[in-house]
Order: sequence, then C-alpha cells, then structure tokens
Amino acid sequence: MTTHRVSAVLAAVHAPPQVETEGVAASALFGSLSLRPFQIVEALGAKDGEVFALFVAGKGRLDTALANRVGDIVTDWAVKNGATHYTHWFHPLTGVPAEKHDAFLSRTSAAPNAPIEKLPGALLLQSEPDASSFPSGGLRATHTARGYCVWDPSSALFIRDDGGARTLCMPATYVSWRGHALDSKAPLLRAMDAVSRELSAYINVVNNNTACGAIAGTLGLEQEYFVVDKGLAALRPDLLATGRTLLGASPPRGQQLEDHYFAVLPARVQAFIADAEQQLLRLGVPVKTQHGEVAPAQYETAPIFEGINIAVDHNVLTMEILRRAADAHGLVCLFHEKPFAGVNGSGKHNNWSVTTAEGINLLEPGLEPHNNIPFLATLAVVFTAMDTHNDLVRAGIASAGNEHRLGANEAPPAILSVYLGTALDRVVSGIAGGETRTFEAMADIRVASGLFAKPDLTDRNRTTPFAFTGNKFEFRAVGASENCGWPMTLLNAAVADAARTLRARIEAMGGDRTAAVLEVVRDVFQKTARVRFEGNNYSPEWLAEAARRGLGNHVTTPAALAVLGDPARTAFLGELGVLSAEEIHARHEILLEKYAKQLQIEAQALAEIAGTQVASAALQQLNRLGSARASLGGLAGGKRLDAQLDQLGGAYDALSGAIENLNTVSADVGFDPEAVAERLRPAMAAVRAAADALELLVGDDLWPLPKYRELLFVGI
Ligand code: ADP
Ligand code: MG
Repeated sequence: MTTHRVSAVLAAVHAPPQVETEGVAASALFGSLSLRPFQIVEALGAKDGEVFALFVAGKGRLDTALANRVGDIVTDWAVKNGATHYTHWFHPLTGVPAEKHDAFLSRTSAAPNAPIEKLPGALLLQSEPDASSFPSGGLRATHTARGYCVWDPSSALFIRDDGGARTLCMPATYVSWRGHALDSKAPLLRAMDAVSRELSAYINVVNNNTACGAIAGTLGLEQEYFVVDKGLAALRPDLLATGRTLLGASPPRGQQLEDHYFAVLPARVQAFIADAEQQLLRLGVPVKTQHGEVAPAQYETAPIFEGINIAVDHNVLTMEILRRAADAHGLVCLFHEKPFAGVNGSGKHNNWSVTTAEGINLLEPGLEPHNNIPFLATLAVVFTAMDTHNDLVRAGIASAGNEHRLGANEAPPAILSVYLGTALDRVVSGIAGGETRTFEAMADIRVASGLFAKPDLTDRNRTTPFAFTGNKFEFRAVGASENCGWPMTLLNAAVADAARTLRARIEAMGGDRTAAVLEVVRDVFQKTARVRFEGNNYSPEWLAEAARRGLGNHVTTPAALAVLGDPARTAFLGELGVLSAEEIHARHEILLEKYAKQLQIEAQALAEIAGTQVASAALQQLNRLGSARASLGGLAGGKRLDAQLDQLGGAYDALSGAIENLNTVSADVGFDPEAVAERLRPAMAAVRAAADALELLVGDDLWPLPKYRELLFVGI
C-alpha cells in the first residue's frame, strides 16, 4: 500500500470509540435548547398568549408592542442559555441551510455606553440579509436582489452549540422583494395551507357537513446515511468533491450476506450516534429509532412524526448534527443517494398522513376499513393525486444523486405506483368492482404454544415507491440528501387539488350524501387502478406493464423535471396559491442548472483522479512488470508476464482513451442538462470501468486510493 494509505488505514483501525455520553433519559434532555411556541404562549400570559397562539396558527399578526415582548422573552431565554448571536435559519435552493449571525449586542440611546443584549421584535419577525448570491432562477437580477427572511413561528427556536459558540436559530422562510419564494419552505407552508383548506372542506362534505376541525399533514422522515472514517475519506478526492465514490472496484464481500442489517452497532459508530442523538434531543428533535441498514457502513435514524414543516426542519437539523457529530468522532457522514456502486443507496422515507384537529388520523383503517367512509374517501384523494399528478410528484424527487437510485435494480424504480397490501387491496378492488363491501379480518399468527403475533393489515413490499404502511403512506423514493420541503410541497399540493376535485363532484351529485360519496369513491377506485400495483416493482414485467398503463418512467433528471415546463399540468399549483407560474419556471431552471453543474463537477473530479492517481499507479505497475520481464529473460514465466503486460497495457490504454473522451464530452456538453444526462454519464461510466479494471491489476501497494473494503469495513 502507498504509505499514506497505510497510515490512514492504521489510524482508522486504532481509532477508539469516543464514549463521552452517559445514558440519560431522553425526556430529561428533550428541548432544553429549544423554545417551542407553547412556551412563548405561557411566558406571555393569558391575553397576549392567545394572540400569539393565533399568530402561530397563521391567523393574525403581531403588533409592534407584542412583537417586542416576544423579542424580549426570546432574548432573555437565549442569553440565559449562553447564546451570543442570533440568526434566521432558512433553506435557500442551494439545498443547504443558510444563516447569517448577528450579535445580541445592542446600544440604546438611553445608555449609549452600556451595551445590552437585545433582539427587537421587528428583527425576530423579519430580517433582510444581503443574500444576492443564492439561486433565484431568474427571479432576481443582481441589481434587484433584496430578499427577506420571515420567521416561521410554528417551528421551535433553537440554540445550536458549535464547539461552545452558541447561536439562536430562528426557523424562517426566504422570499424576494416581490414576494416570490426563494426557498423550499415558503411553498411548503402554502401547500400545507392548501391541504388543510381543501381536505377539511372535502371531509366536511364527505361527513355530510359535520364540521371537523382543520386537517393537517403529519410527516415522519426516516434518514439513511453512510458512515466512513474521516482519515480514509480525506484520501478520496471524489468523496470530498461530490459526496460519493466515482470509482472503486467492488470488494469480494459487499452486502451479499445482509448481515449489517439490524446488526449490533460498532462501538465507534454507536458512540457517535449517541452523541448526535443527545444533541438532537436538546434541540427538541424527537429522535426515536437507530439501526444498521442493509449495506455495510449504512445506518438509519428516524424521529417521531410531527407537523410537516417541523418534520422537514428537524430533518435538516438532524443531517447537520449528524455531520458535525461524526466529524467530532473522526468520522464522515455521507447523505448522498449512492455513495458506493454495488451496494444499496440511501433514501429518505417520507411517512405521510393527515389528521383532524381532533386527532383522528384519516388514514387509520380501523377494524372495518370497508365501512370507514372518511378513510375510503381519503384513499380516493390519494389515488387521484397520484394518478392525476404522477409526473409532478416524480419531479419532486428528481436529482443527480437520486438518478442512481431510481431505476437502478435495488431501489424503487422511477415509476410511481401505490401499494396497499393484500387485505386492503382486496377491499379497494372489491369496491371498484362494484361488490358489496367486505373485509376479512386477519387471524392471529400462532408462533408456538402460547405465543401469538397480531398481523398488520398490510405486508411490507420493499420494492414499492409509495406504500400504505398501517395508517400512513410511506413515500420511499425520496433521496437521502433531499430537503423534503420540495417533494412534500408537490405531494401535498396534488392531494389538495384532488380533494378539491372530488368535493366538487360529490357536491354536484345531490341525493343521498353517503351514496354520492360511495359512488365517487367507487368510480375513483376504478379509474385510478393504473397507479396501484401490488407486485414486484423491480421486475422487468412491471416496466412493460407500467408502460401499457401509460405511467411515466422518467429515468433521467431532465426528463423527470420536464413536467415543470408544461403549464397545463402545473396550473393547479397557481390556483391553489402554492407556486406561481414564474416560481415554477424559476425552480425548473434552478434544478436543471444544479443537475448539470453537479455532473460536471463529478466529471472533472473523475478525470482528475483517473488521470493523476489511477494512471500513475498503472504506469508504476507497468514499470514493475517491465523490469520483471527483463530480469526473467527466457526463463519460465516469461510468457505469462508478456500476457500480463499486454493486459495491463490494454487497460492503461482503455483508461487513457476514456479520460480523453470524458474531457472532450465534458467540454462539448457544457451545462446543457439533456446532453449532460445522455452523453456525460456514459463517458464517466467508461472511465470508471477502466479504472476499476485497473484496480484489480495494479499491485495493492501502489494503489493510492482507499479501497471499497477499507471505506466500508475499516474503523467502523
Ligand atoms: P419502518 O418500519 O418503515 O422503517 P420506522 O419506525 O423506522 O418504520 O419509521 C416510521 C416513521 O413513520 C416514524 O418516523 C414514525 O413516527 C412515522 N409515523 C408513524 N405514524 C405516522 C403518521 N400518522 N403520520 C406520519 N408519520 C407517521
Ligand atoms: Mg425504518
């Protein structure tokens, strides 16, 4: 091994787990560094508290005096907890959270020489960072670049501790001077409003005008990620530049044995996760589940579900804290959708449901799903949304990283279908077929004498992108690195639109309301049958079947995003007040540009690594073989060495040719997204194939890059 690789491997092997945390009850830590809306309500007292609660619920505004009172409460709390600075914490379309810190330090005119700590109410509600460098997709020119951070009071304030420096973070949206959304949160909040409004109106009609309280979406985000040793990762320029390995031969042992799944966590990883979880609990993130995933070095963390915008904020925070905690433990967290070829990629399962203000989960089938009218009516809405807006929901998960998962033979394919599970599918198909509604309850499973298991209504189908899982839908095709604000905006808007359509149909029918609802439900179950699929989504038969059903199968990102350029299919977003035509156009541009840029960065990183490291190792190996060949002369083995020299020379030639071609293609396609998808990706694949072949021919001591077996198995 090259000496630096040896040193990195040895350092990783000997890195001890840093056990800094002791078992503390989660409830004792929970929220100690977060200030939740109800706490502000309590601190304000009865009258002002009520006004503030209405403001949090989106019903009313704060006047200056009350905003200042809230500012004082927040300042007091933050300063007591060691915060020296504050910032709005927002999510521009770069995909990473942004912040600009200001000190609490203020001077008052009454006592100019005695500075105090203060956050004026107006600055809590809104700030205007000079943030002209964020992507706007043409919504702003550099000379009209004003943007505003507007506080989202429903998402708790939190104090982040970065090595002792404590900053108050105020979750915010980000909009332009003309009111266009420039982030992933503003449209999400609007889509949540739309769902609340349209679904409440729909369910009221379904329930024959028995008013239910406002309905709101719920979301639980399962986050998958990889962990690798920091020293080893530092020797991989591809990981540093792109978050994934651009080359690397598959090791003999990958995930074939699937023995990493739910296995006991390695001590070093367990210590890091415990540390991250304690930090998250303090920040008010309700982390619940941790486990090893299928691929080696792959893990998952999941919280208890929350309101959608809060769940998304908390997921972004979870990624941030995991990243930082990993770093402190000498590790690196990879959130890329496909960090390693040949083993599973990482997704972010979006567990989504809708609940009434009274706490009734509308997707809870109950003991008699076939007689549960609001449940069936809600299913009809989801099917309609997934049928009518299938391509748009697909556009919500399109990215350079996710391209490796969708369509690859290991993740949900790029086709979006809905899975219900046998028992429920029978109910739905029965209703669609006009049968009397029936449901067979499932008998308990006998394990052994005295041991019984209660079966769920649905089995698990790991191959489906959108599964009904008990009392919610699990949207599995979302990428691990994604800010879920975008896919959730589109899914929720699609659901709101479907609710609006179905309500209008029911209202137009007159006659007995329940009969009308059932008639519409039956019709929807029938007409949307094409989006339901109970089989193996990875099978080639499904590809053919989905094509027959007319379902989109957009494998590349530009193809998946194309729907954003079709006003006929996006107009409803404007009607619902979620995204204007201008905002959609801007997002389309930003996403395409980001895609092309990311792939060009990958292409350049790959060409550089292959040209400067792989080629050089191959030449050294050629020298080694060449001099061995010279020493061997006419002795035995000469012929074999000739063959090896020939093979190695051929592989070197293939690599050099592929690099040359990659450079040409890269210059040629520039930032044209379609050309990048069609031409740059194959050119990169050719370089990778040649490099991976060389990895198996070059002496291990000459190979400069940590190999897959080291990244996936050493030090973790
Ligand atoms: P899985 O078995 O699918 O891996 P996990 O327990 O890891 O399940 O994650 C399930 C996620 O779904 C959790 O975040 C959980 O809080 C969330 N969840 C449960 N019920 C609901 C609901 N009604 N709405 C939204 N999310 C929910
Ligand atoms: Mg899980």
